Amino acid sequence: MTEAKLISALNEENLSHFSKTYVPSRLLLGPGPSNAHPEVLNALSLNPIGHLDEAYISLMSDVQQLLRYTWQCNNRLTLPMSGTGSAAMEASIANFIEEGEKILIAKKGYFGDRLVDMATRYKADVSVIEKPWGESFSYEEIKYEIETKKPAIFAIVHAETSSGVLQPLDGIGDVCRKNNCLFLVDAVTSLGALELLIDEWKIDLAYSCSQKGLSCPPGLSPFTMNERAEEKLSSRQTKVPNWYLDLSLLNKYWGSDRVYHHTAPVNMNFAIREGLRLIANEGLENVWHRHNTNAKNLWNGLESLGMELHVSEDYRLPTLTTVKIPPAVDGDGFRNHLLRNFGIEIGNGLGELSGKVWRIGLMGFNSSQENVDRLLNLFDTELKKYSIFESSTF
Ligand SMILES: *Cc1c(COP(=O)(O)O)cnc(C)c1O
Repeated sequence: MTEAKLISALNEENLSHFSKTYVPSRLLLGPGPSNAHPEVLNALSLNPIGHLDEAYISLMSDVQQLLRYTWQCNNRLTLPMSGTGSAAMEASIANFIEEGEKILIAKKGYFGDRLVDMATRYKADVSVIEKPWGESFSYEEIKYEIETKKPAIFAIVHAETSSGVLQPLDGIGDVCRKNNCLFLVDAVTSLGALELLIDEWKIDLAYSCSQKGLSCPPGLSPFTMNERAEEKLSSRQTKVPNWYLDLSLLNKYWGSDRVYHHTAPVNMNFAIREGLRLIANEGLENVWHRHNTNAKNLWNGLESLGMELHVSEDYRLPTLTTVKIPPAVDGDGFRNHLLRNFGIEIGNGLGELSGKVWRIGLMGFNSSQENVDRLLNLFDTELKKYSIFESSTF
């Protein structure tokens, strides 16, 4: 037997032991993740139990029931998928698209692009309608496109986290039904924070994530689909080309059969149960009201400090505000200053808004008057230190 030389976990310069895992304390006021609620963290730290244990099965039912309330739907197939928001996003494409099928994607930011990329990988016939980052689609535009293009699926992002736009969804569900098309909604930055009525708005399938409105760490992605979507799924000619995200297999675990598919991330499910319970306790309408009020206070405060907001108030997104970086300000410098010296994270602009806006998130547990006041104070006292004109005079 040759003597194996084990690879050291330590690099050459660091020959001491790793210290215990340490994470600095942060207030996350960016595009996500958002801070988890302390009660959610308590639930997360419980010892795992078996994913087929009857206590766990009962917890799964609670999660489904609480999710139906939060989604405002009665869909049997409502479950948190393992993985971040993009997992349920990919499930929505992988399960409902067969090669060559037509999908129409309304794209007005980065996450519309991701849907296009996924649909292309699953070999859909992809049509795209596009708006500049910071605008929304009108009902008439969407209606016209669905009626003329006749897609099998119409997909749109409700809350575009890259641009700060809230897309109105009224009436689109009816147009989809009349045109025999499934209505797919990305609700990653709206679930548990903003008005969202899955049944009433006739949304056939929707997905979200745990780390934005639900006050949990990243790791789960709530998903829901109605009977129209179930019919489409069961009439597939070919197998779902993604094993891990195959909803017909997942349904056997989350439905009444409880057949093993993959080991559930049990602690994340403890966490989401707690996050959803807190929403139900507060009451969904109170939660929506809190998000709207805190966002309005942020907008008014920023404007009274002379800041300009990127999106018109008519369709501005309460969970994520895009603020224009004033021309004479070092945007990255200010952002890094907030993080390093105050432990507060705000986001940089993404894609075509990079360097042009900051992104400020007020989501879930973090949507509070206290956080708004704290951030506004820092804009008031610290921003002037990052004026390029001022620093160049030193
Ligand atoms: C965050 C986000 C996603 C992706 O979710 P991940 O949890 O990062 O995988 C998708 N869509 C929108 C609108 C988002 O804001």
